Amino acid sequence: MKYKALFVFFILIMLCMNSVSATCNIIVITDPTGEDPNGAAAGSMSFAENMFQSTFLMSKEGQYVVLSGGTGSSDTRLDSIIEALASLQNNASAASAASVASGYTGARLVVGGPHMGAAVGGSFDAYVITVDSGDNSTITVTPYSGGLATLEPGQKGAIIHLRNTAGNPLYGTADSVRQETAVNIGKMIRDGYPATTILAEAMGEVARDSGEKYGGGGVNLVSGLSTGDMFTPSEMNETGYPMDQEYSKSCSECGWALGFPSAENYNVCPVCGSELTTIYAYEALGNSLTVTSDSVTVSVYGSEAPGLASTTTEVVKAAVNNNGYDATAIASSINRAINSGVLVGVDFVEPKDINVKEESKAVGVYFTALLGDRTSPSWDLPVDSMVLNILGSIQTVIGIILILLVVFRSRLLKSFQER
Ligand SMILES: [Zn+2]
Repeated sequence: MKYKALFVFFILIMLCMNSVSATCNIIVITDPTGEDPNGAAAGSMSFAENMFQSTFLMSKEGQYVVLSGGTGSSDTRLDSIIEALASLQNNASAASAASVASGYTGARLVVGGPHMGAAVGGSFDAYVITVDSGDNSTITVTPYSGGLATLEPGQKGAIIHLRNTAGNPLYGTADSVRQETAVNIGKMIRDGYPATTILAEAMGEVARDSGEKYGGGGVNLVSGLSTGDMFTPSEMNETGYPMDQEYSKSCSECGWALGFPSAENYNVCPVCGSELTTIYAYEALGNSLTVTSDSVTVSVYGSEAPGLASTTTEVVKAAVNNNGYDATAIASSINRAINSGVLVGVDFVEPKDINVKEESKAVGVYFTALLGDRTSPSWDLPVDSMVLNILGSIQTVIGIILILLVVFRSRLLKSFQER
């Protein structure tokens, strides 16, 4: 059963793998006890295209991530990922799982989690950052090149790998940016910032200074959050969103939000007249990964219209902040947003189209009714649930959430609705 699931997993990735190499991988662990909901985070980005592939795989159950990259073929990289995942299923250490990459030409794996520490194996140029707690906390930043480098379990710290992609106009900057960013990561850990915030700031710095800037995305390893397809390209052979660029403008009063480039046309909120806040992509990454007392996870079903999910999320967050987890109030807010043109291309919703799970701070919005007597996907798997309905055996046997299936989403949704 296990091998069958692995095989399905393999085939599915094969379908969407082409060539890609994440050239920046970062993992940050600020709370090795796993108690801080924002205490471990990881992310990838690159100058290269196709960053939805293989860049950040997270197991929610196992609280670990496998980041990959390198110069080898996608098949090679894939083989290394499969072997690493299989070893992690057998309780391998981060170092042991990452060392798998050395058996595959050109491949690199970064593996880690809040409890297991982290490691990078294979072909890499990385710094391992450690921060010792205490009155005069010591920051140590050590370079490694290839083989295996480890952040020990229980140690506060981080690993950053960075190389430049051929063709990047900022080619040649990787060595200095890697070192500067590593030092800044160490300072932020020392100063007590959570891993999710540090990841976002580090990705912003790398994007600006080294040009390895296209998402990619990130994961919060403690809370099981992912940026999903926020920054990944929607088509094959394209680059993702530049993480150093403006991503959206939003109104904290009423929840109005709009992505760039359309957001350029607005200086104040068109609904309530309030000041708008401009959010850069790396900040949006940090916001979506950082758990706060009032954070709401919003999942949108029924339409793949560009910007719809992020705008709906902002509207729902504002509705929840104002009125709590009330399906009727959330539906009213969404309908007001449709009336005012904030949300376009979708029909009005009713309270029954809003799936509220207050205890897990999650809200699902169904913009178009699914056909047949199907009411809603299962709830503990927002966004990926349709994919995972089909890949059920993988979810249960491997316990891994696949973040790389973006390319299939609209296609799968369509076939799901046609069943
Ligand atoms: Zn407003």
